[in-house]
Amino acid sequence: MDLYAVFGNPISQSKSPFIHTLFARQTQQELSYTAKEPADDGFVEALANFWQQGGKGCNVTAPFKEQAFKAAQQHTERALLAGAVNTLKLTDDGLILGDNTDGAGLVADLIANFGELKDLRVLLLGAGGAARGVIRPLLDEQVSELVIVNRTVAKAEALAERFSEFGKISSSSFEDLSGQFDIVINSTSAGLKGQLPPLKAELIQANTCCYDMTYSADVTAFNAWASEQGAAKVVDGLGMLVGQAAESFAVWRGIRPGSRQVLRELRRNLSR
Ligand code: NDP
Repeated sequence: MDLYAVFGNPISQSKSPFIHTLFARQTQQELSYTAKEPADDGFVEALANFWQQGGKGCNVTAPFKEQAFKAAQQHTERALLAGAVNTLKLTDDGLILGDNTDGAGLVADLIANFGELKDLRVLLLGAGGAARGVIRPLLDEQVSELVIVNRTVAKAEALAERFSEFGKISSSSFEDLSGQFDIVINSTSAGLKGQLPPLKAELIQANTCCYDMTYSADVTAFNAWASEQGAAKVVDGLGMLVGQAAESFAVWRGIRPGSRQVLRELRRNLSR
């Protein structure tokens, strides 16, 4: 039986074992996928043990994505650009390949919910690890402009500079932000602390679609706020979670599972 796992801390609430077990069933692959919770300073050792036990690949989530990047011996281009790894794979040559599938997961879910992104003006709230991983995939969809806004403005500026060769991208503070956006993506962790990013209400127009990378059984705080401002549609990040998992599964197994049915089951499971 091929061994896969997800590493994170905390990990008990992780949906990844549920998702990958459904993917394996759907694609008739025989594999085991478990959750592992190393201590904050125990990731490297836990990962080494995993490979020794015959592990074929793993997902990595907070707070270990940067350590996973360092642990990889080869990187995909999207992992190099993100500077973080959420997927590790043991290659046929016995090397550890680091990949980042978060952006592919987000883009697939945005398109599934809002349609093609080409020529749309997109606002990205936040400039942390999640934001970094999704910028290149968003620019690859030929959005007309991607604006990054962050509480610590210097971080948004650095990202806009770093990705400027891949498309039209700019940065702003929350105070200076203006204009209209087709899609607003919340990649801040404000919601995890029951807070909202300080976005001006007038930035949400009747045709604005909002996407919150955070997800919960109930409507997220950001999406509740966006709906109150009259947003056309609001979607949470559960589909991104399933999308990045599907992409990881394809990296490991060479077969792409379908997301829709798994997302439905996960949503049902979440609200129980
Ligand atoms: P980081 O800690 O790397 O970044 C956090 C970001 O949120 C920073 O830009 C920070 O701004 C901003 N922020 C935090 N609190 C506030 C606040 N009160 N007001 C405004 N901005 C705030 O986290 P990640 O980027 O790794 O994750 C961000 C979110 O995305 C999390 O909720 C995570 O669960 C979610 N996520 C979802 C995924 C999915 O599959 N659905 C995948 C990955 C992440 P500053 O720089 O000023 O501190």
